[in-house]
Amino acid sequence: MDPKLLDILACPICKGPLKLTDDKSELICKADALAFPVRDGIPVMLESEARTLNVDERLDK
Ligand SMILES: [Zn+2]
Repeated sequence: MDPKLLDILACPICKGPLKLTDDKSELICKADALAFPVRDGIPVMLESEARTLNVDERLDK
């Protein structure tokens, strides 16, 4: 993914910063404990598409 794209991306819910996962498959909002999917390099910034982080993921990093 374009690093500049990541710079301008913010969580659609809390407007906070997002963290790209190591495998670049998801964008994580720690504040909301949500993971937004990245499909074919395109982030899907929809709450309805987001996955809730599990406990381990919330504690991670
Ligand atoms: Zn958020």
